[in-house]
Amino acid sequence: MKHYLKQAKDEGVNWQTALIEDTETEIKLLIRAAVFGAWTWAVLNRKITELVGKAVDEIEIAELKERARVSLLAFATIAYRAFVAAMAGVNVKILPQVVKYTERGDKSAERVIRRAYRSDYFDTAQPLNEYAKDYMKKVHSALDELAMSTAKDDYSSRVSLRNISEMSVRWEEKQKARQKLIDDGEDIVWISTHANCSVRCQKYQGRLYSMSGQSGVIDGIKYEPLTNATDVFYTTKSGKTYKNGCISGYNCRHYLIPYRKGNRPFEVPADVVEKQRKINRTQRAMERGVRDARLVAELSIGEDAQKAKKVAAARYKRYREYCKRNNVAYYPSRVQIWDSDVLADVWQESQAIDEGRKSRMKI
Ligand SMILES: [Zn+2]
Repeated sequence: MKHYLKQAKDEGVNWQTALIEDTETEIKLLIRAAVFGAWTWAVLNRKITELVGKAVDEIEIAELKERARVSLLAFATIAYRAFVAAMAGVNVKILPQVVKYTERGDKSAERVIRRAYRSDYFDTAQPLNEYAKDYMKKVHSALDELAMSTAKDDYSSRVSLRNISEMSVRWEEKQKARQKLIDDGEDIVWISTHANCSVRCQKYQGRLYSMSGQSGVIDGIKYEPLTNATDVFYTTKSGKTYKNGCISGYNCRHYLIPYRKGNRPFEVPADVVEKQRKINRTQRAMERGVRDARLVAELSIGEDAQKAKKVAAARYKRYREYCKRNNVAYYPSRVQIWDSDVLADVWQESQAIDEGRKSRMKI
């Protein structure tokens, strides 16, 4: 297992979601390598199947394992097709030369481009510098699109695999917490309350439930089966079903409190909740910002990559400062996009295939 995922696991951070995100990134890198190196779909497909297989093996939640496998493989196909379409008409063989020529006006690169330009295109009425500019524009927008694409759990909805993963991990944790209560001999529980709770959970919070599915009255307070709150389903257009109730749903922060005579769920003051929520939202947004910039840095070429690296470093610094200022922990694993050792292997392999091609390739 990658060292930072192991670290995240030891820290109790959501490492399975990080693993899924990393795998998406590695898929994107493979797709880029495949298109730039003109691999066949069979070669790319073999590598992707291997990569996804390895990642999915690490996932511990059985249902998430299967959903991740299906979603990541579909994502690879869809992202590959989109990238190929966005790169249509771009002669990838001369990419390094076009970069050198557009960024530094390199003369020997210009000669290579001219040769390719003449053999590839009948219409040479367009000046070479304009051709190179258009070429790079196409490449940049294709790479940006690839960088921003994400695996979906269901392509008819906007539910990303990352969301599903977070949801599954949280559900698993709640199952464990519930099991612990049952093991401790508890049955009647409150669903905790917090101000500004979601509309979805509003009607369930602060009420009494039975984990074993009983209905009744205790000390004059009514209770009902807990599944009435948890087993609420949402079905997408394509017919995929998600559990989206209280305790079970995406982003639900409610938890179960064992009932004792006279106790009531403690309500956190609204302003405290609002402040914490804001910090939380800001943290997640900042982490996303760092990851996006790092991804753009890795997928870009030339000056763009350098710029994006600086942006990523500056964002990461701001993120850490923000966390310190607000007295909350920051997680390197949440802004990590992959492990360099693993990628080095992937790249070595892609280079080897590339080298083999180059010897046969005439520009
Ligand atoms: Zn909830």
